[in-house]
Amino acid sequence: MFDSSLKNKFNFILVEPSHPGNIGAAARAIKNMGFTNLSLINPKDFPNEDAFYRAKGAKDILENAKIYEKLSNALKDATLIFGTSARTRTIPWPTKTSSELSIVLKKALESSNAKVCLVFGREISGLSNEELQMCDYHIKIPTDEDFSSINLSHAVQIISYVLKMEIDSIDLLPEMENESPTFQENEYLIDHFDQVMKKMDFYDQENPKQVKTRMRRLIKRLKPDKLETGILRGFLAKIEQVLNKKN
Ligand code: SAH
Repeated sequence: MFDSSLKNKFNFILVEPSHPGNIGAAARAIKNMGFTNLSLINPKDFPNEDAFYRAKGAKDILENAKIYEKLSNALKDATLIFGTSARTRTIPWPTKTSSELSIVLKKALESSNAKVCLVFGREISGLSNEELQMCDYHIKIPTDEDFSSINLSHAVQIISYVLKMEIDSIDLLPEMENESPTFQENEYLIDHFDQVMKKMDFYDQENPKQVKTRMRRLIKRLKPDKLETGILRGFLAKIEQVLNKKN
């Protein structure tokens, strides 16, 4: 059942939206589906009358919207991140269609610190590769192949509707006792790997061949839990110790 306490576990993030009307329409869309949290990354023109006009009865969502300078700041405590995109990118990332969300979603909601973020891109250029690589999964809303780019607020409406349907169909939520590692903790692990690889001259820094991006994808795909993350960090620290002794 769609328990109202679940609402707070979701955050809709719009990255650098340029049209205030789209921000208002997105606020209305998420409130229609029972969600409350909206974050804006560096909006071009906000607060703005047009946004409030288009929000209609969802002005509270706009008033409480959080504003950040960078996407990574908004994601710090996220435990599951979906990036939405009309196109597939150079390094393919695990991609779900909007109807394939249920398994990952159910698993994420089992953890006590669940925070699911849905990230939407700029009207003109979408999300950058770097921003898409911060996400665990990409979602592509199936469309006509030749005309795949949906209006930003319409994309928010479709995703929030699909999420509501998924959540409504989860019969009984399991006990919430496991803690999932957050985006920030994953970033520390990815950086730690990179640091050790550099110290070992594992890859040519002039020509890194996307090693860090591939490590990032691996870690996001495997999603080690807190204990496993701790083991990996400890292992890397030990390698550093041994290297330091040698030098
Ligand atoms: N020209 C841009 C499209 C931007 S549309 C591009 O090609 O990337 C604005 C945002 O709406 C996108 O960044 C994405 O968050 C969402 N969106 C639009 N169409 C979508 C689709 N088919 N599937 C998933 N998200 C979509």
